[in-house]
Amino acid sequence: MLSAGAPEAALLGLLGLLVGSFLNVVIHRLPKMMELHWAAECADLQVGKDVVQQSAPAAEPFNLMVPRSRCPHCGHQIRWFENVPVFSYLALRGKCSQCAAPISLRYPAVELTCGALFAWCGWRWGLGWEAFAWCGFSAAVLSLAGIDWDTTLLPDDITLPLLWAGLCAAGLRLTDTALPDALWGAVGGYLSLWLVYWAFKLTTGKEGMGYGDFKLFAAFGAWFGWQALIPIILMASVIGAVIGVGIKLKGELREGGYVPFGPFLALAGLTAMIFGPSAILAVIGL
Ligand SMILES: [Zn+2]
Repeated sequence: MLSAGAPEAALLGLLGLLVGSFLNVVIHRLPKMMELHWAAECADLQVGKDVVQQSAPAAEPFNLMVPRSRCPHCGHQIRWFENVPVFSYLALRGKCSQCAAPISLRYPAVELTCGALFAWCGWRWGLGWEAFAWCGFSAAVLSLAGIDWDTTLLPDDITLPLLWAGLCAAGLRLTDTALPDALWGAVGGYLSLWLVYWAFKLTTGKEGMGYGDFKLFAAFGAWFGWQALIPIILMASVIGAVIGVGIKLKGELREGGYVPFGPFLALAGLTAMIFGPSAILAVIGL
C-alpha cells in the first residue's frame, strides 16, 4: 500500500513521540545496566575464587522501569506532566522545574526524530504490520545510534533481535526483500566488515571498528537485502569521514581518537528505509 495518508501519519507520529521518550531512557540506562550486570558477574567470579563468601550489599533495582527518572542535578523526581514528549520541554523552557538546570536538547530531539520516522511509516504504509515492522526498525536503529555515540557500544540486546526481526520480516513479506536476499545480506554484512576489521588490524595493529558494527551491518543486510550493503556502507563511510574530520579539526576527539561508526551506519540505514537503498548512491552524489 503506497501513500496511506495523513491520519495514519498523525496517529503513528504521536505514538513515535511516546516511543521516543522511552528510547531516551533506553539510551541512558541500557549501557549502565550492562555495566552493572558485568560488574556483578565479575564479583561472582571473585567470590568463587576467594571461597570466602562476602556479603554484597543488596543492590537497588535498576532497569528500564525503575527507579523513576530524576533531575541529574538536584535529584528532583520528574512528575508525569513534566515527562510529556516535547511539550514538557517547551513548557519548562528546557529547565528543571526545581533547580532550573538546563535539560539536554537531546531529549526532545530524540522524541521528535522518532515521531517523524513513525509518521513517515504511517504515511507510507498505513496502519498495518508493514508499518509496525518499520517503526520497530526505526526505534531500534535510533537507540543504537544514541548508545554508540555516548559509549561506543552497540549492545547485542538490540543488534541481534534487529537482525532476527529483519529475517522474519522478509520471510513474512513485510519488507520488499526476498528471503534469500535477506539471508545473504545478513551473512555478507557480517563477513565483509569482519574481513575489513582483520585486514586493518593485521596491517596497522589497530582496531578500526567493533563487533557491534558487524552485527548492525548484518541486520541492515537482513532488512534491505545484500544488494543494499554497498550503498549503505559507502554512505556511512562518506558521512563518517566528513564528520570525523570535523570533530578532529574542532579538537573534540575523544580519548583514543575513536569516532563511533554506528551512528553513521544508522543514518545510512534510515536513509535506505526512506528513499530506498538504490537512491542512497544519488543522495551521496555517486
Ligand atoms: Zn533539578
